[in-house]
Amino acid sequence: MLRKNYIMAPGPTPVPADILLAGAKETIHHRTPQFLEIMKETLESAKYLFQTNSKIYTFVSSGTGAMEAAVTNLMNPGEKAIVVVAGKFGERWKEICDSYGIQVVEIAVEWGNAVSPEQIENVMKQHPDARVIFTTHSETSTGTVIDLKSIAQLTKDTDHVLVTDEVSGLLAEPLKMDEWGVDVVVSGSQKGIMMPPGLAFMALSEKAWKLVEKNQCPKYYFDLRYYDKNYPDNPWTPAVNMIYMLNQSIKMIKEEGIENVWERHRILGEATRNAMRALNLELFSKRPGNVVTAVKVPESIDGKKLVKIIRDKYGVTIAGGQGHLSGKIFRVAHLGYVSMFDTITAISALEFTLSELGYKIELGTGVRAAMETLKREGVAG
Ligand SMILES: *Cc1c(COP(=O)(O)O)cnc(C)c1O
Repeated sequence: MLRKNYIMAPGPTPVPADILLAGAKETIHHRTPQFLEIMKETLESAKYLFQTNSKIYTFVSSGTGAMEAAVTNLMNPGEKAIVVVAGKFGERWKEICDSYGIQVVEIAVEWGNAVSPEQIENVMKQHPDARVIFTTHSETSTGTVIDLKSIAQLTKDTDHVLVTDEVSGLLAEPLKMDEWGVDVVVSGSQKGIMMPPGLAFMALSEKAWKLVEKNQCPKYYFDLRYYDKNYPDNPWTPAVNMIYMLNQSIKMIKEEGIENVWERHRILGEATRNAMRALNLELFSKRPGNVVTAVKVPESIDGKKLVKIIRDKYGVTIAGGQGHLSGKIFRVAHLGYVSMFDTITAISALEFTLSELGYKIELGTGVRAAMETLKREGVAG
């Protein structure tokens, strides 16, 4: 059979043709009034994605670059930071902090669980000298979302600075940076923003900027003071064509409306979860989010084989488990430029694969549950 490819992984995600075409325009010099005008307009409108009035900084890097920028601009070596570790990306915050000699007060959460606001509150009380808190809104490795809004209430009117990794969460999980009082948001281009990999983002509250101004951590490329100096002009060569793409992406998101984008992710997440339940598969997360659905691999099945067959035979790229979850879970994303039919396609390919591996199902069981969910949600049928 002809095999079409579908990316149903939590990054990179599918890129719409209109965004690819926007990037295919001629590269112009970055130190020109013409490019500066595009940069200005694009970064101004990017505030919408974060629901903030603060400036949006862009880095030519993947999402991890923005994470490193958050650590090195807010923390000094030797200082204490509170770090929530509930999966691979929480671990990344810890590893970056470790690399710079920052003392980590770790809130270790079992993978698949979400940190509670009470846990954070307790640690804040035990360590009053730790002012910066690093969290992961959507822990992509486990498919878990935290209650960021309630956590922000703990820090909003204090001198604590709340940092959130929104690399996968942005646009898939509701986020109102200013209204909720989140201080620092980092993200990347290849997830909800529907672009190829290569651009990272950061937004900071005034409270967070006070730390940046007096920060003494060794750094150069990611020193935010350089980025702010001639803003929106970039201190180094910006990713000119990716800025064109970002401009187009924001236009498309504005056209759909951010509330509708959030709602689409919720509905596709719900349809995917219901499909898994109908197939007698167990969700891995205790608090599943709308970025990616993590599913336990049934005992009788080789999880790595499942991910390989669904990709190589059916053209549907899903993700396996990371770290100690390798082979134990698989993850089906519903992130970015994904419609209900992409989700249905992924579920049907999963059913074929499960069936091929000897898992007893009646074909169509998961697809039907997903379709019924879509009908119940009022988007189809
Ligand atoms: C994808 C992702 C990242 C960053 O990964 P990069 O490969 O550096 O872009 C960070 N955090 C989370 C939660 C992610 O999903």
